[in-house]
Amino acid sequence: MEKWIITCNPNYYDVIGAFDEFDILNWKQSVNVHVGDIVYIYVGKPCGAIKYETKVIAVDLPEAKPYDSDYVIDGSNFEEYGKYMELQLLRTFDDELLPYKILKNEGLKSVQGPSRMTNELEKFISNQIDQSIEMDNRRYFFVFQNKSYSEEFKGAYLWAPQHGDNGRKVSHWEQMKDVQKGDLIIHSYLKKIVAISIAEADVYEADRPTAKGVHDEWNNKGWRVNAKYYPITNPIVTSDHMDKLLKLQPESKAPFNKLGRGNTGYLFTANKNMAEYVIRESSEIQFTNSEKEQLLRLLNKSNVQSDENKLDQELLDDIDSMLKGAANQHITYTPEPKEKPKANVSKGKRSYPRDRKVAMNALIRANHKCEIDVEHPSFLRRSTNTSYAEPHHLIPMASQNEFEHSLDVEANIVSLCSNCHNQIHYGLGSDILIEVLYKERKDELGQAGITISLSDLLNLYQ
Ligand SMILES: [Zn+2]
Ligand SMILES: [Zn+2]
Repeated sequence: MEKWIITCNPNYYDVIGAFDEFDILNWKQSVNVHVGDIVYIYVGKPCGAIKYETKVIAVDLPEAKPYDSDYVIDGSNFEEYGKYMELQLLRTFDDELLPYKILKNEGLKSVQGPSRMTNELEKFISNQIDQSIEMDNRRYFFVFQNKSYSEEFKGAYLWAPQHGDNGRKVSHWEQMKDVQKGDLIIHSYLKKIVAISIAEADVYEADRPTAKGVHDEWNNKGWRVNAKYYPITNPIVTSDHMDKLLKLQPESKAPFNKLGRGNTGYLFTANKNMAEYVIRESSEIQFTNSEKEQLLRLLNKSNVQSDENKLDQELLDDIDSMLKGAANQHITYTPEPKEKPKANVSKGKRSYPRDRKVAMNALIRANHKCEIDVEHPSFLRRSTNTSYAEPHHLIPMASQNEFEHSLDVEANIVSLCSNCHNQIHYGLGSDILIEVLYKERKDELGQAGITISLSDLLNLYQ
Protein backbone atom coordinates (compact mmCIF):
# COMPACT_ATOMS: atom_id res chain seq x y z
CA MET A 1 0.00 0.00 0.00
CA GLU A 2 1.36 3.37 -1.00
CA LYS A 3 0.29 6.87 -0.08
CA TRP A 4 -0.12 9.64 -2.61
CA ILE A 5 -0.99 13.24 -2.61
CA ILE A 6 -2.93 14.83 -5.45
CA THR A 7 -4.16 18.34 -5.92
CA CYS A 8 -7.42 19.77 -6.97
CA ASN A 9 -8.08 23.28 -8.17
CA PRO A 10 -11.51 24.22 -6.83
CA ASN A 11 -11.88 26.80 -9.60
CA TYR A 12 -12.11 23.96 -12.12
CA TYR A 13 -13.82 21.33 -10.06
CA ASP A 14 -15.95 21.77 -6.95
CA VAL A 15 -14.53 18.82 -5.07
CA ILE A 16 -16.06 19.95 -1.79
CA GLY A 17 -19.54 19.92 -3.26
CA ALA A 18 -18.89 16.59 -4.94
CA PHE A 19 -17.68 14.90 -1.75
CA ASP A 20 -20.63 16.35 0.11
CA GLU A 21 -22.88 14.44 -2.22
CA PHE A 22 -20.88 11.34 -3.14
CA ASP A 23 -18.67 8.98 -1.18
CA ILE A 24 -16.97 7.71 -4.31
CA LEU A 25 -15.53 9.86 -7.10
CA ASN A 26 -13.71 9.15 -10.34
CA TRP A 27 -10.40 10.87 -10.71
CA LYS A 28 -7.90 11.20 -13.48
CA GLN A 29 -5.12 8.71 -13.00
CA SER A 30 -1.72 9.67 -14.25
CA VAL A 31 0.49 7.65 -11.96
CA ASN A 32 0.89 4.04 -11.18
CA VAL A 33 -1.54 3.76 -8.30
CA HIS A 34 -2.92 0.47 -7.10
CA VAL A 35 -6.15 -0.61 -5.55
CA GLY A 36 -5.84 -0.15 -1.80
CA ASP A 37 -3.46 2.84 -2.01
CA ILE A 38 -4.33 5.88 0.06
CA VAL A 39 -4.71 9.19 -1.73
CA TYR A 40 -4.79 12.53 0.06
CA ILE A 41 -6.41 15.35 -1.82
CA TYR A 42 -4.95 18.79 -1.47
CA VAL A 43 -7.56 21.41 -2.34
CA GLY A 44 -6.05 24.61 -3.70
CA LYS A 45 -6.97 28.18 -2.83
CA PRO A 46 -9.09 29.48 -1.22
CA CYS A 47 -8.99 26.30 0.83
CA GLY A 48 -5.24 25.63 0.66
CA ALA A 49 -5.14 22.46 2.69
CA ILE A 50 -5.23 18.69 2.54
CA LYS A 51 -8.90 18.09 2.97
CA TYR A 52 -9.62 14.48 2.07
CA GLU A 53 -8.23 11.07 2.77
CA THR A 54 -9.40 8.56 0.20
CA LYS A 55 -8.77 4.98 -0.74
CA VAL A 56 -8.29 3.75 -4.30
CA ILE A 57 -10.96 1.16 -5.02
CA ALA A 58 -10.55 0.80 -8.80
CA VAL A 59 -7.88 1.72 -11.35
CA ASP A 60 -7.34 1.89 -15.11
CA LEU A 61 -10.94 2.73 -15.91
CA PRO A 62 -11.26 3.84 -19.54
CA GLU A 63 -13.74 6.58 -18.77
CA ALA A 64 -15.10 8.53 -15.84
CA LYS A 65 -18.69 8.14 -14.81
CA PRO A 66 -20.44 11.44 -15.34
CA TYR A 67 -22.53 11.50 -12.15
CA ASP A 68 -20.55 14.35 -10.63
CA SER A 69 -20.69 16.52 -13.76
CA ASP A 70 -22.69 19.16 -11.86
CA TYR A 71 -19.52 19.95 -9.99
CA VAL A 72 -17.28 20.48 -12.99
CA ILE A 73 -16.82 24.22 -13.30
CA ASP A 74 -14.32 24.35 -16.17
CA GLY A 75 -14.29 21.07 -18.08
CA SER A 76 -11.47 21.84 -20.48
CA ASN A 77 -9.07 20.17 -18.08
CA PHE A 78 -10.97 16.94 -17.87
CA GLU A 79 -11.68 15.72 -21.35
CA GLU A 80 -10.05 12.64 -22.80
CA TYR A 81 -7.70 12.18 -19.99
CA GLY A 82 -6.99 8.55 -20.65
CA LYS A 83 -7.20 6.58 -17.45
CA TYR A 84 -9.34 7.05 -14.40
CA MET A 85 -9.34 5.68 -10.89
CA GLU A 86 -12.10 5.45 -8.35
CA LEU A 87 -11.56 7.04 -4.96
CA GLN A 88 -13.61 6.27 -1.90
CA LEU A 89 -13.78 8.97 0.74
CA LEU A 90 -12.42 7.86 4.10
CA ARG A 91 -12.17 11.10 6.03
CA THR A 92 -12.67 14.81 5.72
CA PHE A 93 -10.42 17.26 7.55
CA ASP A 94 -10.88 20.82 8.65
CA ASP A 95 -8.97 23.40 6.62
CA GLU A 96 -6.97 24.27 9.74
CA LEU A 97 -5.69 20.75 10.32
CA LEU A 98 -3.30 20.34 7.36
CA PRO A 99 -2.88 23.73 5.67
CA TYR A 100 -0.10 24.40 3.16
CA LYS A 101 1.63 26.87 5.43
CA ILE A 102 2.31 24.06 7.90
CA LEU A 103 2.85 21.31 5.34
CA LYS A 104 5.55 23.19 3.49
CA ASN A 105 7.70 23.12 6.63
CA GLU A 106 7.22 19.40 6.80
CA GLY A 107 8.63 18.38 3.49
CA LEU A 108 5.81 19.19 1.12
CA LYS A 109 7.92 20.93 -1.52
CA SER A 110 5.13 21.96 -3.78
CA VAL A 111 1.60 20.92 -4.26
CA GLN A 112 1.89 20.00 -7.89
CA GLY A 113 0.44 16.55 -7.60
CA PRO A 114 0.22 13.75 -8.03
CA SER A 115 3.20 12.56 -6.11
CA ARG A 116 4.23 9.88 -3.73
CA MET A 117 4.20 10.99 -0.17
CA THR A 118 7.58 11.20 1.55
CA ASN A 119 8.02 9.29 4.79
CA GLU A 120 8.51 12.47 6.72
CA LEU A 121 5.34 14.03 5.39
CA GLU A 122 3.40 10.85 5.96
CA LYS A 123 4.49 10.75 9.58
CA PHE A 124 3.64 14.36 10.11
CA ILE A 125 0.19 13.99 8.66
CA SER A 126 -0.69 10.96 10.69
CA ASN A 127 0.55 12.69 13.84
CA GLN A 128 -1.53 15.75 13.15
CA ILE A 129 -4.60 13.64 12.62
CA ASP A 130 -4.01 11.52 15.70
CA GLN A 131 -3.49 14.55 17.85
CA SER A 132 -6.58 16.30 16.73
CA ILE A 133 -8.64 13.18 17.26
CA GLU A 134 -6.86 12.78 20.54
CA MET A 135 -8.93 15.63 21.86
CA ASP A 136 -6.73 16.02 24.53
CA ASN A 137 -7.12 18.98 26.50
CA ARG A 138 -7.78 16.23 28.96
CA ARG A 139 -5.50 16.35 31.97
CA TYR A 140 -4.41 13.55 34.25
CA PHE A 141 -4.15 13.56 38.02
CA PHE A 142 -3.07 11.27 40.80
CA VAL A 143 -4.77 11.39 44.18
CA PHE A 144 -3.72 9.90 47.53
CA GLN A 145 -6.96 9.42 49.42
CA ASN A 146 -5.87 7.32 52.31
CA LYS A 147 -8.16 8.60 55.03
CA SER A 148 -10.88 9.91 52.81
CA TYR A 149 -11.13 7.25 50.13
CA SER A 150 -14.23 5.40 51.21
CA GLU A 151 -16.22 8.56 51.96
CA GLU A 152 -15.20 10.23 48.73
CA PHE A 153 -15.78 7.08 46.74
CA LYS A 154 -19.29 6.70 48.19
CA GLY A 155 -20.08 10.32 47.51
CA ALA A 156 -18.40 10.24 44.06
CA TYR A 157 -16.25 13.32 44.61
CA LEU A 158 -12.82 14.67 45.55
CA TRP A 159 -12.50 17.46 48.06
CA ALA A 160 -9.61 19.55 49.35
CA PRO A 161 -9.48 22.71 51.49
CA GLN A 162 -8.47 25.99 49.90
CA HIS A 163 -6.11 26.95 52.71
CA GLY A 164 -4.20 25.36 55.51
CA ASP A 165 -4.00 26.92 58.95
CA ASN A 166 -3.29 30.64 58.98
CA GLY A 167 -4.38 30.90 55.38
CA ARG A 168 -1.33 29.39 53.74
CA LYS A 169 -1.76 27.83 50.34
CA VAL A 170 -0.71 24.25 49.78
CA SER A 171 0.35 23.21 46.31
CA HIS A 172 -1.14 19.73 46.37
CA TRP A 173 -4.48 21.28 47.29
CA GLU A 174 -4.11 24.08 44.78
CA GLN A 175 -3.96 21.38 42.09
CA MET A 176 -7.70 20.91 42.55
CA LYS A 177 -8.25 24.21 40.75
CA ASP A 178 -6.98 22.68 37.52
CA VAL A 179 -9.43 19.80 37.29
CA GLN A 180 -11.94 20.07 34.49
CA LYS A 181 -14.76 18.02 33.16
CA GLY A 182 -13.48 14.89 31.42
CA ASP A 183 -10.12 14.79 33.21
CA LEU A 184 -8.87 11.42 34.39
CA ILE A 185 -7.83 10.76 37.97
CA ILE A 186 -5.83 7.78 39.28
CA HIS A 187 -6.79 6.87 42.85
CA SER A 188 -4.27 5.49 45.31
CA TYR A 189 -5.39 4.00 48.61
CA LEU A 190 -3.11 2.07 50.97
CA LYS A 191 -0.41 1.98 48.27
CA LYS A 192 -2.64 0.36 45.70
CA ILE A 193 -4.36 1.77 42.63
CA VAL A 194 -7.94 1.14 43.64
CA ALA A 195 -9.90 3.21 41.14
CA ILE A 196 -9.85 5.45 38.11
CA SER A 197 -12.30 8.29 37.90
CA ILE A 198 -13.41 10.77 35.30
CA ALA A 199 -14.37 14.30 36.40
CA GLU A 200 -18.03 14.86 35.66
CA ALA A 201 -17.80 18.64 35.84
CA ASP A 202 -15.21 21.35 36.37
CA VAL A 203 -13.98 21.95 39.90
CA TYR A 204 -16.12 24.26 42.05
CA GLU A 205 -16.00 25.87 45.48
CA ALA A 206 -17.69 23.80 48.14
CA ASP A 207 -17.73 23.53 51.89
CA ARG A 208 -16.12 20.69 53.73
CA PRO A 209 -18.12 17.46 53.45
CA THR A 210 -19.83 16.50 56.64
CA ALA A 211 -18.65 12.92 57.05
CA LYS A 212 -17.21 12.62 60.56
CA GLY A 213 -13.58 11.95 61.19
CA VAL A 214 -12.51 12.33 57.58
CA HIS A 215 -11.93 15.98 56.82
CA ASP A 216 -12.53 17.31 60.33
CA GLU A 217 -9.30 19.08 60.97
CA TRP A 218 -9.39 21.07 57.76
CA ASN A 219 -10.74 24.49 56.99
CA ASN A 220 -14.29 24.65 55.84
CA LYS A 221 -13.78 26.39 52.53
CA GLY A 222 -12.67 24.07 49.80
CA TRP A 223 -12.72 22.82 46.25
CA ARG A 224 -14.77 19.92 45.09
CA VAL A 225 -14.69 17.81 41.97
CA ASN A 226 -17.56 15.47 41.23
CA ALA A 227 -16.23 12.37 39.57
CA LYS A 228 -17.48 9.08 38.31
CA TYR A 229 -15.44 6.37 40.01
CA TYR A 230 -14.52 3.14 38.32
CA PRO A 231 -13.31 0.92 41.17
CA ILE A 232 -10.71 -1.72 40.35
CA THR A 233 -11.55 -5.14 41.79
CA ASN A 234 -8.02 -6.48 41.81
CA PRO A 235 -5.72 -3.50 42.33
CA ILE A 236 -2.04 -3.30 41.45
CA VAL A 237 0.43 -2.43 44.21
CA THR A 238 2.33 0.72 43.29
CA SER A 239 5.67 -0.48 44.70
CA ASP A 240 5.62 -3.43 42.27
CA HIS A 241 5.63 -0.93 39.41
CA MET A 242 7.75 1.84 40.89
CA ASP A 243 10.61 1.76 38.35
CA LYS A 244 8.20 2.27 35.53
CA LEU A 245 6.05 4.84 37.34
CA LEU A 246 9.10 6.94 38.17
CA LYS A 247 10.09 6.93 34.52
CA LEU A 248 6.63 7.84 33.32
CA GLN A 249 5.51 10.42 35.86
CA PRO A 250 5.74 14.11 34.97
CA GLU A 251 8.70 16.19 36.12
CA SER A 252 6.84 18.56 38.33
CA LYS A 253 4.07 18.06 40.88
CA ALA A 254 4.52 14.31 40.48
CA PRO A 255 3.07 11.82 42.96
CA PHE A 256 6.28 9.91 43.79
CA ASN A 257 9.68 11.09 45.02
CA LYS A 258 13.00 9.80 43.71
CA LEU A 259 13.08 7.08 46.32
CA GLY A 260 9.82 5.73 45.02
CA ARG A 261 7.73 6.84 47.94
CA GLY A 262 4.45 8.64 47.63
CA ASN A 263 4.79 12.37 48.27
CA THR A 264 2.87 13.66 51.25
CA GLY A 265 -0.26 15.34 50.04
CA TYR A 266 -3.52 14.91 48.21
CA LEU A 267 -3.63 15.68 44.51
CA PHE A 268 -0.67 15.45 42.12
CA THR A 269 -0.13 15.64 38.40
CA ALA A 270 -0.06 12.55 36.23
CA ASN A 271 0.09 12.29 32.47
CA LYS A 272 -1.31 10.25 29.67
CA ASN A 273 1.52 7.72 29.55
CA MET A 274 1.25 7.07 33.22
CA ALA A 275 -2.51 6.64 33.06
CA GLU A 276 -2.15 4.29 30.13
CA TYR A 277 0.40 2.21 31.93
CA VAL A 278 -1.62 1.98 35.13
CA ILE A 279 -4.80 1.10 33.30
CA ARG A 280 -3.20 -1.51 31.07
CA GLU A 281 -1.39 -3.17 33.95
CA SER A 282 -4.54 -3.15 36.06
CA SER A 283 -6.65 -4.52 33.28
CA GLU A 284 -4.21 -7.45 32.86
CA ILE A 285 -5.00 -8.80 36.29
CA GLN A 286 -8.77 -8.36 36.46
CA PHE A 287 -10.83 -11.50 36.75
CA THR A 288 -13.47 -10.99 34.08
CA ASN A 289 -13.36 -9.76 30.54
CA SER A 290 -15.95 -7.11 31.17
CA GLU A 291 -13.84 -5.66 34.00
CA LYS A 292 -10.82 -5.63 31.71
CA GLU A 293 -12.69 -3.97 28.91
CA GLN A 294 -14.33 -1.38 31.10
CA LEU A 295 -10.92 -0.27 32.29
CA LEU A 296 -9.45 -0.09 28.81
CA ARG A 297 -12.42 1.93 27.63
CA LEU A 298 -11.51 4.65 30.09
CA LEU A 299 -8.43 5.35 28.03
CA ASN A 300 -10.53 6.26 25.07
CA LYS A 301 -13.28 8.06 26.87
CA SER A 302 -13.18 11.44 25.33
CA ASN A 303 -14.06 14.80 26.75
CA VAL A 304 -14.51 16.12 23.25
CA GLN A 305 -18.04 16.90 22.37
CA SER A 306 -19.46 15.83 19.13
CA ASP A 307 -22.53 16.84 17.34
CA GLU A 308 -24.11 13.50 16.72
CA ASN A 309 -27.71 14.69 16.69
CA LYS A 310 -27.22 16.52 13.44
CA LEU A 311 -25.73 13.44 11.83
CA ASP A 312 -28.63 11.33 13.01
CA GLN A 313 -31.07 13.77 11.47
CA GLU A 314 -29.23 13.63 8.14
CA LEU A 315 -29.39 9.86 8.33
CA LEU A 316 -33.18 9.96 8.70
CA ASP A 317 -33.51 12.22 5.66
CA ASP A 318 -31.26 10.10 3.48
CA ILE A 319 -32.90 6.86 4.45
CA ASP A 320 -36.33 8.07 3.48
CA SER A 321 -35.22 8.50 -0.10
CA MET A 322 -33.06 5.38 -0.13
CA LEU A 323 -35.91 3.15 0.94
CA LYS A 324 -37.63 3.65 -2.38
CA GLY A 325 -37.58 0.32 -4.12
CA ALA A 326 -35.67 -1.28 -1.28
CA ALA A 327 -38.16 -1.24 1.58
CA ASN A 328 -39.31 -4.82 1.09
CA GLN A 329 -36.00 -6.42 0.27
CA HIS A 330 -35.07 -9.60 2.02
CA ILE A 331 -32.17 -9.00 4.37
CA THR A 332 -29.90 -11.68 5.71
CA TYR A 333 -27.48 -10.55 8.34
CA THR A 334 -24.97 -12.50 10.34
CA PRO A 335 -23.48 -10.44 13.14
CA GLU A 336 -19.68 -10.32 13.03
CA PRO A 337 -17.05 -7.87 14.18
CA LYS A 338 -16.51 -5.10 11.69
CA GLU A 339 -13.62 -2.67 11.47
CA LYS A 340 -14.59 0.58 13.10
CA PRO A 341 -15.13 3.66 10.98
CA LYS A 342 -12.59 6.46 11.06
CA ALA A 343 -13.57 9.67 12.72
CA ASN A 344 -14.01 12.92 10.86
CA VAL A 345 -12.37 15.86 12.47
CA SER A 346 -13.88 19.26 12.40
CA LYS A 347 -13.22 22.26 14.60
CA GLY A 348 -11.66 20.05 17.23
CA LYS A 349 -14.77 17.90 17.29
CA ARG A 350 -14.90 14.39 16.14
CA SER A 351 -17.77 12.60 14.53
CA TYR A 352 -18.34 9.23 12.99
CA PRO A 353 -19.98 8.67 9.64
CA ARG A 354 -23.05 6.42 9.47
CA ASP A 355 -23.49 3.90 6.73
CA ARG A 356 -26.91 4.54 5.17
CA LYS A 357 -27.25 1.02 3.89
CA VAL A 358 -26.64 -0.53 7.29
CA ALA A 359 -29.28 1.65 8.94
CA MET A 360 -31.71 0.85 6.17
CA ASN A 361 -31.06 -2.87 6.59
CA ALA A 362 -31.82 -2.53 10.26
CA LEU A 363 -35.25 -1.08 9.51
CA ILE A 364 -36.03 -3.71 6.92
CA ARG A 365 -34.88 -6.46 9.26
CA ALA A 366 -37.38 -5.23 11.85
CA ASN A 367 -40.05 -5.10 9.18
CA HIS A 368 -40.34 -1.34 9.83
CA LYS A 369 -41.87 -2.04 13.24
CA CYS A 370 -41.00 -0.61 16.63
CA GLU A 371 -38.73 -3.00 18.50
CA ILE A 372 -40.05 -1.88 21.86
CA ASP A 373 -43.45 -3.19 20.86
CA VAL A 374 -44.45 -4.14 17.33
CA GLU A 375 -47.98 -2.94 18.08
CA HIS A 376 -46.90 0.67 18.51
CA PRO A 377 -48.89 2.74 16.05
CA SER A 378 -47.18 4.53 13.19
CA PHE A 379 -48.13 5.92 9.78
CA LEU A 380 -47.08 5.01 6.26
CA ARG A 381 -44.12 6.56 4.49
CA ARG A 382 -45.14 8.63 1.51
CA SER A 383 -42.09 7.36 -0.36
CA THR A 384 -42.63 3.63 0.06
CA ASN A 385 -45.97 2.86 1.64
CA THR A 386 -44.25 0.96 4.41
CA SER A 387 -44.70 1.69 8.07
CA TYR A 388 -42.57 4.58 9.31
CA ALA A 389 -39.81 3.68 11.76
CA GLU A 390 -36.49 5.28 12.62
CA PRO A 391 -33.07 3.69 13.03
CA HIS A 392 -31.36 4.27 16.36
CA HIS A 393 -27.83 3.26 17.39
CA LEU A 394 -28.37 1.52 20.71
CA ILE A 395 -24.78 2.21 21.73
CA PRO A 396 -24.46 5.81 20.55
CA MET A 397 -22.00 6.50 17.74
CA ALA A 398 -20.53 9.29 19.86
CA SER A 399 -18.89 6.59 21.97
CA GLN A 400 -17.37 4.72 19.01
CA ASN A 401 -13.95 5.76 20.14
CA GLU A 402 -14.30 3.63 23.25
CA PHE A 403 -14.96 0.43 21.32
CA GLU A 404 -12.71 -1.90 19.35
CA HIS A 405 -15.23 -2.72 16.65
CA SER A 406 -17.71 -0.76 14.59
CA LEU A 407 -20.91 0.35 16.30
CA ASP A 408 -22.37 1.12 12.90
CA VAL A 409 -23.63 -2.41 12.36
CA GLU A 410 -27.07 -3.95 12.11
CA ALA A 411 -26.59 -5.60 15.50
CA ASN A 412 -26.38 -2.18 17.14
CA ILE A 413 -29.17 -0.45 15.23
CA VAL A 414 -32.73 -0.82 16.39
CA SER A 415 -35.90 0.19 14.63
CA LEU A 416 -38.14 2.46 16.70
CA CYS A 417 -41.40 4.31 16.26
CA SER A 418 -40.86 8.06 16.40
CA ASN A 419 -42.38 8.27 19.84
CA CYS A 420 -40.05 5.70 21.37
CA HIS A 421 -37.10 7.18 19.50
CA ASN A 422 -37.69 10.61 20.97
CA GLN A 423 -38.33 9.18 24.41
CA ILE A 424 -35.00 7.36 24.31
CA HIS A 425 -33.19 10.60 23.48
CA TYR A 426 -35.14 13.13 25.50
CA GLY A 427 -37.65 11.42 27.75
CA LEU A 428 -37.98 10.33 31.32
CA GLY A 429 -38.04 6.56 31.58
CA SER A 430 -35.62 6.14 28.69
CA ASP A 431 -33.64 3.68 30.83
CA ILE A 432 -36.56 1.27 30.72
CA LEU A 433 -36.58 1.32 26.92
CA ILE A 434 -32.81 0.96 26.81
CA GLU A 435 -32.97 -2.07 29.08
CA VAL A 436 -35.57 -3.77 26.89
CA LEU A 437 -33.47 -3.22 23.79
CA TYR A 438 -30.26 -4.17 25.53
CA LYS A 439 -31.65 -7.55 26.57
CA GLU A 440 -32.85 -8.15 23.06
CA ARG A 441 -29.54 -7.25 21.43
CA LYS A 442 -26.92 -8.28 23.95
CA ASP A 443 -26.04 -11.56 22.22
CA GLU A 444 -25.95 -10.13 18.72
CA LEU A 445 -23.77 -7.29 19.94
CA GLY A 446 -21.40 -9.84 21.43
CA GLN A 447 -21.17 -11.63 18.10
CA ALA A 448 -20.35 -8.30 16.47
CA GLY A 449 -17.44 -7.92 18.89
CA ILE A 450 -19.17 -5.35 21.06
CA THR A 451 -19.47 -5.94 24.78
CA ILE A 452 -20.90 -3.56 27.31
CA SER A 453 -22.80 -3.94 30.58
CA LEU A 454 -26.26 -2.49 31.00
CA SER A 455 -25.09 0.06 33.55
CA ASP A 456 -22.27 1.24 31.28
CA LEU A 457 -24.75 1.57 28.43
CA LEU A 458 -27.13 3.62 30.58
CA ASN A 459 -24.23 5.88 31.47
CA LEU A 460 -23.58 6.61 27.81
CA TYR A 461 -27.03 8.17 27.58
CA GLN A 462 -26.51 10.63 30.43
ZN1 LIG B 1 -31.39 7.86 17.95
ZN1 LIG C 1 -42.32 2.46 19.89
